[in-house]
Amino acid sequence: MNTELLRLEGVRKSFGDHVVLSDVDLSVEPGQCVVLIGASGSGKSTLLRCVNLLEVVDDGVITFEGRDITDPRVDGDEVRSRMGLVFQSYNLFPHLDVIGNVTLALRLVHGVDPGEARTRGLAMLERVGLAEKATARPDDLSGGQQQRVAIARALVANPRLMLLDEVTSALDPELVGEVLDLLGELKGEGVTMLLNTHEMGFARDVADQVCFLHAGRIHEQGTPEQVLGDPQQERTRGFLSRIR
Ligand code: ADP
Ligand code: MG
Repeated sequence: MNTELLRLEGVRKSFGDHVVLSDVDLSVEPGQCVVLIGASGSGKSTLLRCVNLLEVVDDGVITFEGRDITDPRVDGDEVRSRMGLVFQSYNLFPHLDVIGNVTLALRLVHGVDPGEARTRGLAMLERVGLAEKATARPDDLSGGQQQRVAIARALVANPRLMLLDEVTSALDPELVGEVLDLLGELKGEGVTMLLNTHEMGFARDVADQVCFLHAGRIHEQGTPEQVLGDPQQERTRGFLSRIR
């Protein structure tokens, strides 16, 4: 039986004549945390954007919940509504309070009535440890707190898959831990995640699978013990020695 939530097969993406992803095969099972690693420019963000249908792949198939989402007849907004995407820059609306940010899409995109949206939003803020900040403005929060709000905003609609693009890269070093701890807790609760990060400690401790990308190809893929602890490819070893 096919248990995968997400599967990429032979995915290829170019911008002009620049091939950014080629022959990408990857699968994510429900409850897994899959971590993409690789140098800047290796294609990690593009891969996440292809999964989220923010980029159209040139070739290959992406299957999500058993359905080919690269089929041009697929409604991209509907697919995106079943995924949560969080960026490095949390992009909260400064004029809305925290609960307003967390519930906005729930109300406007998912059509949840304001009372229920508020109840769900408050429960989600509780889950990320920020219930007492519901009426604060984003500017009054630390970067780590703002990123946790952005994660709450993505989670509140019960996405099947969370896509997280370097969500700790913009944070001061002392704030990185609280966001990584939250991701670890979400993994413990069964949230399925595909993410890229330079935090190798997190990858080692939390990931089920680590994929090393170089120039748009997955050069090595396996458990953290395999890829981080005993890399087989020279390129993986070189990358890891540079970032450690
Ligand atoms: P990473 O996230 O691993 O740093 P990216 O996926 O952002 O890598 O980028 C991979 C390559 O694709 C880079 O060379 C980048 O310049 C290029 N690229 C990304 N997005 C675009 C775009 N919209 N147009 C042209 N080139 C792009
Ligand atoms: Mg990137």
